Amino acid sequence: MASETTNQLANQFAGKLLLRSEIPLSEDVFQHCVSSGNFTAVSSISKNLLYCQCNRCGNREPGLFAKIPCQICHREHHYCRKCIEMGRVMECEPLYYWNGDQPAWATPADPCSWDGELTDKQQLAADRITQAIVSQEKELLIWAVCGAGKTEMLFPGITKALQSGKRVCLATPRADVVRELLPRFRQVFAGVSIQGLYGGSDEKEKVAQLILSTTHQLLRFRQAFDVLIIDEIDAFPYHKDPSLSFAANRSRKQISTMIYLTATPRKEQRRRMLQKQLNHMFVPTRFHGYPLPVPSLKMCRTLKKDLARPAPPKLLTEWLKQRVNPERQLLLFVPTIELAEKLEMVLARKFIQLGWLPSKQAITFVHASDPDREEKVQQFRRKETFMLLTTTILERGVTFPSVDVVVLDAGHDVFDEAALVQIAGRAGRSPDDPTGEVLFIHDGKTDAMVEAVSSVKAMNKRGGFR
Ligand SMILES: [Zn+2]
Ligand SMILES: [Zn+2]
Repeated sequence: MASETTNQLANQFAGKLLLRSEIPLSEDVFQHCVSSGNFTAVSSISKNLLYCQCNRCGNREPGLFAKIPCQICHREHHYCRKCIEMGRVMECEPLYYWNGDQPAWATPADPCSWDGELTDKQQLAADRITQAIVSQEKELLIWAVCGAGKTEMLFPGITKALQSGKRVCLATPRADVVRELLPRFRQVFAGVSIQGLYGGSDEKEKVAQLILSTTHQLLRFRQAFDVLIIDEIDAFPYHKDPSLSFAANRSRKQISTMIYLTATPRKEQRRRMLQKQLNHMFVPTRFHGYPLPVPSLKMCRTLKKDLARPAPPKLLTEWLKQRVNPERQLLLFVPTIELAEKLEMVLARKFIQLGWLPSKQAITFVHASDPDREEKVQQFRRKETFMLLTTTILERGVTFPSVDVVVLDAGHDVFDEAALVQIAGRAGRSPDDPTGEVLFIHDGKTDAMVEAVSSVKAMNKRGGFR
């Protein structure tokens, strides 16, 4: 095969771990690549006496394997249920990785066209990130409070990496965030090949030096990245699903830098930082220089009764009447979809009656599997709706310029400390309206609520606020 073709193939396949069906090559070319050692096959499922392991997602849970008759071998095969959304892998089907020459990525002299300015605190973090990338530190955690402006802090480090021909991936837990970041990155790094990877993406075949991806899509990679940035390291699903950290670790090169970003590190990460096992840097202030809003806790004894009817708790309507800035939109978090569904109409009726909302179109509700979710969030952002009722899906990753935030039934299990801190962090994000009210309505304080408040206060204190 001409070396030009081999280069192209290297570009296309290096760093990936793929099924035959994911390799769009003719059988001839493919077989040639296998026999010349350019593609190496590994079994998709390894078995020993004790367990099966899926080599795509690392799953070893016996309950997550199933058996199915194979059309090709006419035998029963195991397959992994854990990573089935990436397409089913039969035991007899190998996974392939590129073992030939490694691709040479571009070394653009000046890849970044961002002309914004970093604050002093952001600059320190940006320098630290750049340093970690340049000196190929294994791991670095950036603990930046909600609204610190994490994305901008990454630009200098990514620039440096691209300049030296490195391949970079920014992985985030949710597809919404990938979709939101893509146009921004395409603008800022205009001359760089960029690929967006998430469940419904149509760019999966593309090849790029800079990849924005959901953490799930990392399952398709193997020793691909010189720099892997994992956003929201504490978030679901990364934090709950061991196959995602398995995939993340496999997707980085042996010599590479992993950068974690979080506003709310989990206990395990805090322990590692405290014991100096994990290099980190704390960014204590929001980019506009105002402190994080401290949530106020309001006890409502009749809460469960009110929500069962359902009716808006009196406390909520009273608070609404005396808000500091009634112009602000309202982001209302509720623990379940059912409750949100029921409350939408009830709240609309009540607030229209009170003269506080103009019409029932002013209030809307989103949840994870809502097909109109993106559009509704956009409408709220454009201020076409006034009040957005939501489950925890909007707890992080979204910025609205001017909102007050209420958590209804903040004592519910779904609101753990990290969720509550993130939710509070939705308020006061804009330099034009850098404050905001955050109200937790509950019928009994939980540890999560108390810890969330003290954690916000502690971060403000470290930021120099009292
Ligand atoms: Zn699997
Ligand atoms: Zn088979």
